[in-house]
Amino acid sequence: MGRISLLPEEVRKVLAAGEVVERPASVVKELVENALDAGAGRVEVEIVGAGKRLIKVRDDGEGILREDLPKVVLEGATSKVSSLEDLYSLKTYGFRGEALHSIARVSDFLVRSRHFSQERGAELYAPGAEVRYVKELAHPVGTTVEVRNLFFNLPARLRFLKSPRTERRLVFETVAAYALAHPERSFRLEAEGRELFDLKPSSVEERMAALFDLDYPPEHRAAEGDEGRAELYYYQNYKSNRFLIFLNGRPIKNRELQTYLKNRLGYRALAVLFLELPPHLVDWNVHPRKEEVRFLKERKVLGLVGALFGRPRVEDPLSSLLRRPTVVSYGSGLKFEVLGQVEETLILAYRDGFLYFFDQHLLDESVRFAQSGDAASACRRALKAGRELSREEMEELVRRWCEAGEPRTCPHGRPVFYKLPLSEVYAKIDRQ
Ligand code: ADP
Ligand code: MG
Repeated sequence: MGRISLLPEEVRKVLAAGEVVERPASVVKELVENALDAGAGRVEVEIVGAGKRLIKVRDDGEGILREDLPKVVLEGATSKVSSLEDLYSLKTYGFRGEALHSIARVSDFLVRSRHFSQERGAELYAPGAEVRYVKELAHPVGTTVEVRNLFFNLPARLRFLKSPRTERRLVFETVAAYALAHPERSFRLEAEGRELFDLKPSSVEERMAALFDLDYPPEHRAAEGDEGRAELYYYQNYKSNRFLIFLNGRPIKNRELQTYLKNRLGYRALAVLFLELPPHLVDWNVHPRKEEVRFLKERKVLGLVGALFGRPRVEDPLSSLLRRPTVVSYGSGLKFEVLGQVEETLILAYRDGFLYFFDQHLLDESVRFAQSGDAASACRRALKAGRELSREEMEELVRRWCEAGEPRTCPHGRPVFYKLPLSEVYAKIDRQ
């Protein structure tokens, strides 16, 4: 007898499911996507035992028809794609109809749901994706999925999981990502009986601040090209660096963009980039879970993201140097000459042998803080980066900063300006 035998079909199917469902966070991702596809206004996620004991996702979406309920655990069962063409536009997160099947294969799987058109709901119990029963019961419109004992039949997967703390963090990051992509919907996350967040509909700015525990809103920039739109929200003084990228509402990874953002924003930035691109520029098929994408016209996409930061406006400081720069006087007698604006972010000025590079946002924020003593309000109201300023506006900002006593840092401790002695510039170009 030969030594090679075929694995029983049952075993092969469990192994295949384990390929789709990697860890608790991947279950959460699929269930949250289904809730969003169902048009939920509120998504509630609960995990126990870092998701190994229980993952529960509840939504108030359209619900599942009672007669469809047993079908959700069948392979390739989906209500979302009816033609191959739909595959390319991807208006919904799901389309392959394999998530619930795979999750059910490797867990104690239970769904309760009521479709909006029906009077009563129903419950399906299908551990290992085998339908044990469907029974009628009362349920609000929407769906609740309970996944217990994940990987009970795949001990190798269980061993491969990281510490509970890490698995919980990955769940947090997953729910947080969808909450950022859908600030108009409510999201709640509870882990081990503790509420981690309960987010009401809000703006992206408010949601970002709430999720990352910051008491002031991020900076915001937007750019539009002939082939799409980019929007960026960021903090530059975060404790570590984090770059989240969404393409047409889907969290993605793309190394080039990540590196680009890191270079532009620095190593202590927390940034969220939203890209809206037409389907023909994107190749979704590099990654089975649609997490990593390739751009078919990389330069176009990078150009669009580059436009977020504007072109350096070189002629501006030059031309204002050629005109006589205006002199801003103030109390102490020293005078500033405002030279111009760079990249809609910095105000360049000269005083007493030094070139000053003011951050326009921090400049305004530090003045407002000096006047009101309220850091959150100062930041919220302060002028943002990305605004083009007239000469008068720049002079006004610098004059008010002088009058406020020239605060060196903003309320969060970031320096308001960097100054460079002109002597250093002269030394560099060998002029005494
Ligand atoms: P896909 O999302 O790719 O269609 P899934 O296995 O994730 O496949 O889900 C199978 C089907 O079950 C979906 O197409 C949908 O009809 C139904 N479904 C799953 N979750 C929900 C939900 N939360 N609300 C409404 N319908 C759902
Ligand atoms: Mg799905």
